[in-house]
Amino acid sequence: MKIANVIVDVPTKQTDRPFDYIIPKEWENVIQPGMRIVVPFGPRKIQGFVTDIKAGSEVKQLREMIEPMDLEPVLNKELLHLGEWLTETTLCFKIFAYQAMLPAALKAKYEKMVRLAPGMKAECLSQKIKPYFTNHKSLHWEEALKDGLVSVLQQEAAKGKLEVVYVVKERVRKKQVKFVGALFSAAELAVEKEKIQANAEKQKQVLDYFIDHPNLVELRKLLQETNASAATVKALVAKKLLFEEEMEVYRDPFEHRTFEHTYPLPLTNAQAAAIKPIHASIESQKHEVFLLYGVTGSGKTEIYLQSIQKVIEKGQEAIVLVPEISLTPQMVNRFKGRFGDLVAVLHSGLSAGEKYDEWRKIQRKEVKVVVGARSAIFAPFENIGIIIIDEEHETSYKQEDMPRYHARDVAIERAKTYQCPVVLGSATPSLESFARAQKKVYHLLTLSSRMNERPLPAVDIIDMREELRAGNRSMFSRKLFDMLKERIEKGQQSVLFLNKRGHSSFVMCRDCGYVVNCPNCDISLTYHRAGSRMKCHYCGYESHIPKVCPECSSEYIRYFGTGTQKVEEELGKILPEARVIRMDVDTTGRKGSHERLLKEFQEGKADILLGTQMIAKGLDFPNITLVGVLSADTMLHLPDFRSSEKTFQLLTQVSGRAGRHQLPGEVVIQTYTPEHYSIELAGMQNYDLFYQREMMIRKLHHYPPFYYLALITLTHEHLMTVVAETEKIVQYVRSQVSNQAVILGPAASPIPRINNRYRYQCLIKYKREPNLTRILKKILDQYQKETKNGLLVSIDINPFILM
Ligand code: ADP
Ligand code: ZN
Ligand code: ZN
Repeated sequence: MKIANVIVDVPTKQTDRPFDYIIPKEWENVIQPGMRIVVPFGPRKIQGFVTDIKAGSEVKQLREMIEPMDLEPVLNKELLHLGEWLTETTLCFKIFAYQAMLPAALKAKYEKMVRLAPGMKAECLSQKIKPYFTNHKSLHWEEALKDGLVSVLQQEAAKGKLEVVYVVKERVRKKQVKFVGALFSAAELAVEKEKIQANAEKQKQVLDYFIDHPNLVELRKLLQETNASAATVKALVAKKLLFEEEMEVYRDPFEHRTFEHTYPLPLTNAQAAAIKPIHASIESQKHEVFLLYGVTGSGKTEIYLQSIQKVIEKGQEAIVLVPEISLTPQMVNRFKGRFGDLVAVLHSGLSAGEKYDEWRKIQRKEVKVVVGARSAIFAPFENIGIIIIDEEHETSYKQEDMPRYHARDVAIERAKTYQCPVVLGSATPSLESFARAQKKVYHLLTLSSRMNERPLPAVDIIDMREELRAGNRSMFSRKLFDMLKERIEKGQQSVLFLNKRGHSSFVMCRDCGYVVNCPNCDISLTYHRAGSRMKCHYCGYESHIPKVCPECSSEYIRYFGTGTQKVEEELGKILPEARVIRMDVDTTGRKGSHERLLKEFQEGKADILLGTQMIAKGLDFPNITLVGVLSADTMLHLPDFRSSEKTFQLLTQVSGRAGRHQLPGEVVIQTYTPEHYSIELAGMQNYDLFYQREMMIRKLHHYPPFYYLALITLTHEHLMTVVAETEKIVQYVRSQVSNQAVILGPAASPIPRINNRYRYQCLIKYKREPNLTRILKKILDQYQKETKNGLLVSIDINPFILM
C-alpha cells in the first residue's frame, strides 16, 4: 500500500503538519511528490500538496485520497525542501510556503483543462484518449477524472503532446474571443470540399482558407478575409469540418516589440576584474555571494549579462531579480536583446494567465533565464548556475505577508543547494550587505567609475527655509525655477521627483489645525481629488470633505500637503509654456499606461516628467539634463530606523537619472533639513562616508546590521486586552533569552489602531539567541491555538516595516 504525505490547505496551527492518505491502486503510478491532490478532510474536500510517498503509516483508520490535480509535479524536490526551510526561518504555515512558490493561476478560481500542446494533432494521441480531442481542442479536468483518463493523459503530457491550461472561471472581465479551426488536414479538407453542394460557394471559400492556413484563426479575422458570414462558418461547424472555440486572449505586453540583438561588449579593465571571480565561481561550481558595488552606469548590467552567458554555455540556468518598478521594457530589452527567446519575464503587469504561461516555459525548460520581481526567486529551474539580484538594497524584496521572506535569503539558500554564485548589485548597497562584504562574508567587487568616465551630475542642495525667509512661498525654489525655465528654452528635458512615501495629502483646518482622521484607524485620511473625497488607506473608509471644520466651524478646512496633482497645477501657473507628463498611481493605474507615458516623454512630447518614486529608476534618456527633488526630507521623519538609509538611497538614485549621456546633468535637491547627513552625503554621492556615519548610529541604537530584529505584533478590539497580552509576551521572552538581547515593549505600534483593532508590539533586538526561533514558535503555537478570544499574533523576523 502506498501512502501520500499531504500538507493540506487549511492554514491553522493544528493542521500545519503532513497528513497520511492512502493512494488507491488506480493512482499508484500517477501520484508523485510535488503534485497537488484532493483529499477528504473532515466532511470537506480540500486541496493539498504531496510532500512524500511512503510504504506505510502508523496512523490507523486512514482515508483514501480523492483525486490528483496535476499531471506532473508543480514543485520539484528542491522546492519542496525549500518550503520546509521557509517555514522554519519565517515561522509560517507550510501551506503558505508552498503556495508562495506557485503562480496565481494554480490557485482557486481557475478552471483546469487539458489541451493539445502547440502543433499537436489528435491523431498522434493514444487510442484511449484520441476521441476526446478529435472534436474538441480541450478536455475539462473533471471529465478526465470521471472517465479515469489521468494516467494516460499523464503519459502523453510527459511526451509533450498534451498540456494543462488554466482558464479563469469568472469570465466577466476577461476578454473572450471566438476562434475557428479545422478538424482535418489540408488534404482531407480538399476532399471534403468536393462533397459540398455546388451553390455553397462561400463555404468552399472558407474551406479554401483553411487549406492555405491550417492554424486557428480569430472568427472576426476569418470573416474579414473570406467575406463569409457567421452563418457560413456555423454551417461548416455543423458539418463537423470546423470547430469554434471561445478563448481568453491575453495581451503579451512585449508582443509588438522587436528585440534588437546585442552582443557582448569588450569589458573594461574594471569590469574584467569584477567578472573574473564570478566566472571562477560558475566554473568551479562553488557557492559564493558577491556584492557588486558600482554607481549607476558603471556597467553592472553588462557583467550580469556576460555571467549569464557563461552559465548558459555550461547548460545551466539563471534567475535575475529586479525590483518591480524597475522592470521596465527598457530593462527587459537588455536581457531579451542578448538571450532572445531564452528569457522568461515575470512581473505584476502580466495577467494571471500570462504569468502562468511564463512559468510553464520555465518548468518545461524552454527558457534558460528568468527576469522578474521578488517571487521569481521561486522559478522552478532545476539546474541553477547563477542568481542575480539587482538593486539589492530595495525593500520590496521583503514580503510583508506570510511567508515573510526576503528574496536575498531565499537566493542564498537555493544557491547553496546548487553550489552556484549569487551576485548582489547596487550603487547604494543595504547596510547589511555592505557590512557583510566588509567582514568578507560576501566577496566585494567594486566598479568605481561610470562608463566612459562620464562625471556624476553636479548636485545643489537648496535650503527651503531660506526660501521662505526670502519671501518665496512656492514649492519651487528660485534656483529650481530658473533652471527649469532654462531647460525649456534649450529644448532639454527635466525630471521632477516628489517623494510621496509617508507624505500623502491630508485634510486640515488652517485655523485650528484639526486633521480629519479615520474613525476606525488612528491615521489621517488621504485626500483624493477624484470626487473630492477622503479615503483611509488601511480600512477603506471613505467620506466627503467637510465644508466646515468639525472642531471650530472654520471654513478654511482643506487639503494639505503636496501631491503630484498640486505640483502639476502650480507648474501650470508659473511655467505655463511647459508641457508636463505626470506619473503617479492615478495616471498609471491602467495596464501599459506606465510604458506609454515614458515613451511619450522619450519621444520629446513633454518638457517635464513629474512623478513619485516610480520614476526614480530605469529612466535612461539622453535629453534629461535636470533632476529636481521637491522635498527630500518627507521620508526622514517616518518612524523607521532605516529612514536615513532609504532617503540616501533614493536621493542618490534619483540624482543618477541626470547626465547619463553626452549632455552634462544637474541635480537640485530641495529640503528643510539640509544639514542632515543623509541629504548632505547624497548630495556628494558619497556612499562610503554615509556607510560609516550610519553604522555608528546603528551601533549606538542596537539596530541591524549589529543586531537582528524580531517583531511581535498583537491586535485586538480591546485596548486593555492587547496591552495585557503583549505584556505577558514581553515577560515570557525576557525570561527566555540571554541578557544580551534588548526587549522593547509593550508599545503601541506606529499605527496604533487599524480597522478598530488596537495594535501593540514587542521588538526584540538580539545578537545570538540560538533558542529564539523555538521561543517565538511557542508563542505562536500558544496564541494560534487560542484564537477564540479574537487575539491575533504575528511575528516578523527581520522586519522591514516596523509599523
Ligand atoms: P549599470 O548596470 O551599472 O547601471 P550598465 O551596464 O547599464 O551599468 O552600463 C551603462 C552603459 O554603459 C550602458 O549603456 C552600457 O551599454 C554601456 N556599457 C557597459 N559596459 C560597457 C563596455 N564594456 N563597453 C562599452 N559600453 C559599455
Ligand atoms: Zn478648525
Ligand atoms: Zn481606516
